[in-house]
Amino acid sequence: MKLDKALGLLREVPDFPQPGVVFRDLTPVLADPDALRAVVDALQDKIHPDTEVVAAIESRGFLLGAALGYGWRYGVVPLRKPGKLPAVAHRISYDLEYGTATLELPTGSVSPGQQVVVVDDVLATGGTAAAACALVERAGGVVTGVSVVLEIPGLGGRERLAGRSVNALLAL
Ligand code: 5GP
Repeated sequence: MKLDKALGLLREVPDFPQPGVVFRDLTPVLADPDALRAVVDALQDKIHPDTEVVAAIESRGFLLGAALGYGWRYGVVPLRKPGKLPAVAHRISYDLEYGTATLELPTGSVSPGQQVVVVDDVLATGGTAAAACALVERAGGVVTGVSVVLEIPGLGGRERLAGRSVNALLAL
């Protein structure tokens, strides 16, 4: 399937998770076998060839990261919300529009010098992806880029990741 058609399955859900917010929902893209393949292949096309590991952001990043890891022989490291990992190497809290969020990196998952791509479904303000990059670097990893399916422009995500290679399949 062509990438355009695959991304055409993306759904906009108004007033989720709160009134006034339009949530970009990738569920229908992932649920279609041909669309899933088109999206994962397109993500892979933009991943730096030196990459060894995918750091996948909870939770939709897990689905994309696992497919990339299996398909192209990357290791997959889950960056998780607090309280989920049995052994935490590093933890970073970051500001959201309202409140804060935390991401954790598991012990023994990224070694010094390893080349790591950060993967998620959506880039909005960039706070989550920036925290993910910082976690990888705290473990001594080298971030080869940030890959997402969808970038929501105008929220400053790309600016927050200035100096990094940011690859989005679609900006909407
Ligand atoms: P950011 O930290 O860039 O503001 O938000 C990105 C994170 O929130 C990602 O982990 C992403 O999954 C989630 N997110 C924010 N807005 C949306 C959205 O409209 N749709 C989806 N699927 N995820 C979103």
